[in-house]
Amino acid sequence: MNKDNLKQSMVCSFCGKEAAVVESIISGPGVHICNECVMTASDIIQNHRKQVELDKSKISLPAPSQIKEDLDKYVIGQDKAKKTLAVAVYNHYKRIGYIGKYREVEIEKSNILLMGPTGTGKTLLAQTLATLLQVPFAIADATVITEAGYVGEDVENILVRLYQAADYNVENAERGIVYIDEIDKIARKNGNPSITRDVSGEGVQQAILKMLEGTVSSIPPKGGRKHPEQKLVQINTKNILFICGGAFEGLDDIIGRRIGKKSMGYSADINNEARELGKGELYEKVQPEDLLQYGLIPELIGRLPVISSLGDLDSDALKTILTEPRNALIKQYKKLLEIEGVKLDIQSEALEIVVEKALERKTGARALRAIMEEVMLDIMYKVPNMKGLEKVTVNEKVVKEKEEPLYIFKSSKKTA
Ligand code: ADP
Repeated sequence: MNKDNLKQSMVCSFCGKEAAVVESIISGPGVHICNECVMTASDIIQNHRKQVELDKSKISLPAPSQIKEDLDKYVIGQDKAKKTLAVAVYNHYKRIGYIGKYREVEIEKSNILLMGPTGTGKTLLAQTLATLLQVPFAIADATVITEAGYVGEDVENILVRLYQAADYNVENAERGIVYIDEIDKIARKNGNPSITRDVSGEGVQQAILKMLEGTVSSIPPKGGRKHPEQKLVQINTKNILFICGGAFEGLDDIIGRRIGKKSMGYSADINNEARELGKGELYEKVQPEDLLQYGLIPELIGRLPVISSLGDLDSDALKTILTEPRNALIKQYKKLLEIEGVKLDIQSEALEIVVEKALERKTGARALRAIMEEVMLDIMYKVPNMKGLEKVTVNEKVVKEKEEPLYIFKSSKKTA
């Protein structure tokens, strides 16, 4: 038998097909395998690997109570929002983990809407969750997103950022978290869809909706602009958790009017019941119809089934934010000076003035950093040149009247 005839007579040891009917056949000592069986074996190995990965991620998924406890270390107050998020995120990742095994009970994805004034921790919550769960995270601003074809950022760029955050690993990117800020700013200008159509707002909402629902997007492998000859990477958004946030200013009036209408039967004014409720309590009573009136399109509202509101931060909360969280500002400044061998003592009264100033700016905890930077600038500038410095004391007057802090030196005690 010549070589060709020998090859033709070979039979795949796995499926029994003859070499003549398959594309190719590989031989080992006493065994043969055809190209079809190689592909099947490869699929089996890949699926097994995926299952092992899923099992691993399932084991590391903390319970909602644990997620909330971990969030407490970074985010002050906002207990209700933390609890809601912990449950939603837990269910989301359970859903991703189980989806392969329990296809028949496919659980719907629950994206999240966070409402609350600026600087109250919406972004921080989303970001902290991603860090805790060790999933990639990207932030986008709804106001700069445009419909495809217009100048501005299109939704694909958000996925590019997520893909970059996932170290260019598609599978990781596909289970990441995206935070879309200022979602309230793309509301239709007039909530009633039948009166005027604010096309731009609606178009952007449609573009975001597509991503929330689950779509396969082609993105350039290293970000940047698409080139015609470039091979693109496909990202499926089906399992990406979207958290949308916004201040929704004025929504409390809409909610108040609805509550008022219901109990008075006719009045369009905010009635006593609604007036008695604080702003935060009103936000907690939000219903999809209020968001519709605010100007979100019904399909988008439908895709944001988990809604939670964050309240204004009071002075106690702001003071705690300065000192308590893992990465609290004061802890950071103390650490920076400790590296120089200097102890930083910021007195409680000084912190109270910082908080007072922050409250005046009405930007929540966001103002704290800017104010602290102002207080600390001079100190951070001078300290590296002060030989023998042991301690810096910042009292109320340093913050309030911009007085010099007290510099205490190792050998002698003197003020600079
Ligand atoms: P927004 O609600 O506008 O998204 P952010 O989450 O971006 O606000 O908050 C801005 C900054 O203020 C954060 O980086 C964080 O340092 C601080 N901050 C805001 N809210 C809280 C909070 N509840 N607990 C701790 N820090 C907070």
